[in-house]
Amino acid sequence: TSFGFKEVREEEKSKLVGNVFSSVASNYDLMNDVMSAGLHRLWKDRLVSKLNPFPGMKHLDVAGGTGDIAFRVLGSINSISRGAMQDVVTEGLDDETRIYVCDINPNMLNVGKKRAAERGLGEDHSLLWVEGDAEALSFDDSSMDGYTIAFGIRNVTHIEKVLAEAYRVLKRGGRFLCLELSHVDIPGFKQFYDYYSFSVIPALGELVAGDRQSYQYLVESIRRFPNQETFAGMISNAGFQKVEYENLVGGVVAIHSGLKL
Ligand code: SAM
Repeated sequence: TSFGFKEVREEEKSKLVGNVFSSVASNYDLMNDVMSAGLHRLWKDRLVSKLNPFPGMKHLDVAGGTGDIAFRVLGSINSISRGAMQDVVTEGLDDETRIYVCDINPNMLNVGKKRAAERGLGEDHSLLWVEGDAEALSFDDSSMDGYTIAFGIRNVTHIEKVLAEAYRVLKRGGRFLCLELSHVDIPGFKQFYDYYSFSVIPALGELVAGDRQSYQYLVESIRRFPNQETFAGMISNAGFQKVEYENLVGGVVAIHSGLKL
């Protein structure tokens, strides 16, 4: 019947979309490695080390895509609890740990869930995947100990709304951390970086991902994003205290941090 036929086609279509998305996600990973010479892994490690994850914590990783940050947070917590197996203070707290990965794109979340399963974390009840918009989070006020956003804030429509939401969902004492491509301001290095951004990145995009335009757009979006000081000011304006940032590779990326006190 036409109904059965349609069903099959729907199923094929979603399989197809799934495949396209897995290939986009693996292309995306490959491009991250190629463009940053593998450094994005170290930058993400650095972000999570600044977070100081602890057993029992409630953490929200926004624009969490394929789970890169969440897996590191969980890994860090697990290594603490394994080391403190006998410690009565942390005993049992593992059950309380919750790491929410929030992303607006359900396909990215599906890739993340698949990766969790591949890492043997498929049944881990501390990892939760939530479809949602950084500008209007579905989480309660003052419910999170930590908030991270890695390579996610540059492309949102209203940065202020994202910051206001981060502030709202954090508990007092909770930390906001943002890893983002930023601005290089070191003479000599800046010329090299400009050449790399405007000439090499689009060419690599074409070569590796067969997509020059998206990578040209990526470079332009980095230029449009507020510089380190301006962005720090925006974080303060959202209510955060002790706002600071750390430049990595001369400002190619920056980690901004703030506390809700
Ligand atoms: N955090 C991951 C990483 O560092 O590899 C993924 C970064 S990826 C460049 C950006 C992610 O932001 C995508 O998964 C995209 O779906 C998500 N995103 C874009 N706009 C968003 C929004 N308004 N709210 C939540 N997620 C968003």
